[in-house]
Amino acid sequence: MIRRIDLRGRLAAGESLDYRTLVPRAPIDVEAALDAVRPICEDVRHRGLAAVRELTARFDGVELQDVRVPQEALDDALAGLDPRVKAALEESIRRARLVHSDQRRTDTSTTVVPGGTVTERWIPVERVGLYVPGGLAVYPSSVVMNVVPAQVAGVGSLAVASPPQKNTGGLPHPTILAACALLGVTEVYAVGGAQALAMFAYGIAGVCAPVDLVTGPGNVYVAAAKRLLRGVVGIDAEAGPTEIAVLADDTADPRHVAADLISQAEHDPLAASVLVTDSEQLADAVTAELDLRTKATKHDERVRTALSGEQSGIVLVDDLDQGLAIVDAYAAEHLEIQTRDAAATAARVKHAGAVFVGPWSPVSLGDYAAGSNHVLPTGGSARHSSGLSVQTFLRGVHVVHYDEQALRDIADDVRALATAEDLPAHGEAITARFENGDAP
Ligand code: NAD
Repeated sequence: MIRRIDLRGRLAAGESLDYRTLVPRAPIDVEAALDAVRPICEDVRHRGLAAVRELTARFDGVELQDVRVPQEALDDALAGLDPRVKAALEESIRRARLVHSDQRRTDTSTTVVPGGTVTERWIPVERVGLYVPGGLAVYPSSVVMNVVPAQVAGVGSLAVASPPQKNTGGLPHPTILAACALLGVTEVYAVGGAQALAMFAYGIAGVCAPVDLVTGPGNVYVAAAKRLLRGVVGIDAEAGPTEIAVLADDTADPRHVAADLISQAEHDPLAASVLVTDSEQLADAVTAELDLRTKATKHDERVRTALSGEQSGIVLVDDLDQGLAIVDAYAAEHLEIQTRDAAATAARVKHAGAVFVGPWSPVSLGDYAAGSNHVLPTGGSARHSSGLSVQTFLRGVHVVHYDEQALRDIADDVRALATAEDLPAHGEAITARFENGDAP
C-alpha cells in the first residue's frame, strides 16, 4: 500500500540525488484555492454578516441564527463535558502553560555608549483571531494550542472561530466550546473557513471587531485565505495538512512506527507519513504492520488514501547519516527519531517543526499533552518558520534614547552614511540640532 523508495547504493553508483524532491508534498493547490477564496473574502468585506450567513449555508450546510456563540452555550458545553475529557483538557492546558510561560521574553536594555541606550520592549499584539478547524475532524486541542500562548503573551482581546456543525444546532462542536470555556474565552464565533478569516481581518460592524493577527491551522481554503489576507492582518505560518517523518534504525519497534505513521494519516487524506530507515527488515515489518493496523482503525479509508498517496512512503537509505540528510531536506512538520542513540541523532536535526525523541515520545503525545505546541509549519516551511509560541503574539519594539553628547559623538558618521545613500535631509536632521555655531 505504501510505496518504497530504495536509495541504497545509488550514491556509490555516482547518481546525484535531490533530497528535497525525493518525497513530493501532497498535491495541494493553494493557488487554485486562492481563486476560490478571493470572492469569499471580498463578499464578507462588503456584505458582512449577510455574506457570512450565506457562505455558511453553502459550505457548512448550516443556517446560522447567531454568528456569535452565546455565553450560555459555552457554559452548557462545559457543564456537559465528559469528566474524563475535562480532566485531560485541564492537564493539557496545565502542561502547555508550563512550557509557554518559559517562552516569555524579558525586555533588554543596551547601553550602546554613555548617554545612548536602545531598549527592546516586548509588547503583546492587542487583538487576535484564533482559528480552530472543524471540518473532517474537530480539534478542541487546537483551542488549547492557540489560546494558551496568546494568553501567556498577554494578548488583551482574543476571539475564536470554528465551523458550525450540522448536528449541534449550528454551534461549533461542544468540546471546542467547552475548551474555550475552560480557558476563559468568551468571544467565540460559529464561522469556518475563509469567511471566518475574512470576518476577523475586516471585522463586521456590530458583530466582530477586526483583529490584528490571525493564527491557527486549517485546510487549504484556510491557508489560501491567510495568504490572501496577509497585510490586512498578520498571520502565523501556514499550517496545512499534517506530516510525520520517522527516522528509524533496526532498534525501532515496527508496531510503534506503524502506529505513529497511521496516527497522522488519520487527520486527512492529504496527510503525509514518511519513514526513513537504513533497515530493510524494519521497512518490511512496518509495511506489514501498516496493512494490519489500517484494516483495524476507525478512519481506515482516510488512512489508506493518505498512506498510498505520493506524499507518503518508506525511504531506504545506506546509513543514518544519509537518513538525517533526507529528513533535514524534507523539513517535516513532525519528526520522530527512533534510533539507537536517539538524543544524539535528534541534536543534529536542523529542519523540523517539532522533534520527538526516542520510543516514548510519539507525535500523539505532542498533539495533545506534551506541553509543546501542535500548530506547526507544514509543506517544508519548517525551513524558515516556527510553530505557534508566545513569540507569535509579541512584537519587539526598539526604544531609542540618546542624550545630546551621545548624538554629537556619532553625528559625523550619520552624515557620512546619509551622503553615501544620497539622502542629505537625513544628515540635515542631525545638523539642525547643532546649529547656531554649535557644530558638533
Ligand atoms: P477546516 O475548519 O480547516 O475547514 C472547514 C471549512 O472549509 C468549512 O467551514 C468551509 O467553510 C471551508 N470549505 C470547505 N469546502 C470549501 C470549498 N469548496 N470552498 C471554500 N471553502 C470551503 O477543517 P478541515 O477541513 O477538517 O481541515 C483541518 C486541517 O487542519 C487538516 O488538514 C488537518 O491536518 C490540519 N491541522 C493541522 C494542524 C497543524 O498544526 N499543522 C493541526 C490541526 C489540524
